[in-house]
Amino acid sequence: MAKQLDKITPRDEDFSQWYTDTVINAKLVEYGPVKGTIIFRPYGYAIWENIQNYLDKKFKAIGVQNVYFPLLIPESLFNKEKEHIDGFSPEIATVTQIGDKKLPEKLFIRPTSEVLMADFFQKEVKSYRDLPLVYNQWCNVMRWEKTTRPFLRTSEFLWQEGHTVHNSPSEAKNLTLQILDIYTKFAQEILLLPVVAGRKTEKEKFAGAQETYTIESLMHDGQALQCGTSHFFGDNFSKVYDIKFQNKDGKLEHAYSTSWGVSTRLIGAIIMTHSDDSGLVLPSQISPIQVSIIQIKKTTEITKVTNKIVDSISDLRINVDNSDKTFGFKISDAEIKGVPIRIEIGPRDLENGQVTISRRDTREKNQIKINDVEKTVHEMLKEYDQNLYKIALENRMKRTSTASTIEEYQKQLELNTGFVLVPFCGRIECETEVKQKTSTNSRCIPFDIEQVEGKCFNCGQESKLRVYFGRAY
Ligand SMILES: [Zn+2]
Repeated sequence: MAKQLDKITPRDEDFSQWYTDTVINAKLVEYGPVKGTIIFRPYGYAIWENIQNYLDKKFKAIGVQNVYFPLLIPESLFNKEKEHIDGFSPEIATVTQIGDKKLPEKLFIRPTSEVLMADFFQKEVKSYRDLPLVYNQWCNVMRWEKTTRPFLRTSEFLWQEGHTVHNSPSEAKNLTLQILDIYTKFAQEILLLPVVAGRKTEKEKFAGAQETYTIESLMHDGQALQCGTSHFFGDNFSKVYDIKFQNKDGKLEHAYSTSWGVSTRLIGAIIMTHSDDSGLVLPSQISPIQVSIIQIKKTTEITKVTNKIVDSISDLRINVDNSDKTFGFKISDAEIKGVPIRIEIGPRDLENGQVTISRRDTREKNQIKINDVEKTVHEMLKEYDQNLYKIALENRMKRTSTASTIEEYQKQLELNTGFVLVPFCGRIECETEVKQKTSTNSRCIPFDIEQVEGKCFNCGQESKLRVYFGRAY
């Protein structure tokens, strides 16, 4: 068992160690017995549940229906789509034996459920009247990883995967972008991540997709993290899996499909963007505890005031720490867990009809009247969230640069790791070469940057794209 450390390694001293210390000390996860797996502790799982609750509502509001498909995929089905299996084969775990009997056909543990869904859609869809089918599932998937890190890369992880089929390419593409919009707003407004939305290059798009859209976030250390993707398949998958429908003219046509997902990686993104040397700093809307009330002593009066305060902010997630632990322990526990607001109730403040309120981000501490708690807490949460977003955005701006040659690009990476905007030809071979030279790749072709013509920063050929490249997790 990984033991809780007395101290968290300072973030600027060793970012990677700081991350691990924070995740373990905040009691988000514990390592599982199989390498590359993690146990979600209650506090870590509660963050995921808050993410789920928010997104599930948004999905359902645009007509998404939840389903659950099996964990296992027969080899024959998986092999139908060559491009798809090539993308995944090194990471797939396989079941070959049940008890002491060898199976006649290998079974793959899903790395994603495209092929299972496609097979189902093939049987289900007959006419344009059956369309669209807009499905999502919340589940686990498995992709065997060589190097793992809690939330960012684990062999088994939790996610949602949406899979849809439509009777026209435009409807499918609209859905792909509608989902990306939900992801973007969720990342920006709830997780307070100033993500960049855009399209993936030919090399980086999902195997079998015509277009992959993405939201990319920049971590405190300047490395990028892909936070969510939405894929438009056109009729690629439908052709392979023979998903056809009779259109309004009575003719058979291949259906148009999409898939999209976000995973528990988002928790890693929140930690690496907002947290500090004292532990987690959590966006208020997904924090399992929004306000922690710490009683300095146990008296009837303190209990009475605590109850009054709890009633007045009952719309929030509150934790009352009336344990026998020391005051110092309670404070550092609330800090390490990233609770946005802490209210301390002690006899001296109460004499003046006051309590002490403090913010996790700025560490500001103030005495306020008991009657003002409701108003102050709500205002403070808003300011707190705004401040978290502002700091993250400043970091992204500070770490965004431009380059027009590969030498300039390499220099930028060394000086100021972050997003580097470059003119790029878009060719797969050229991007492969960049990766060989720099161990970095493209993050996205951003929507909010004007696409102008120029010369590719690596090969010098004509370029029509301006693309963010950078180091990524
Ligand atoms: Zn090029």
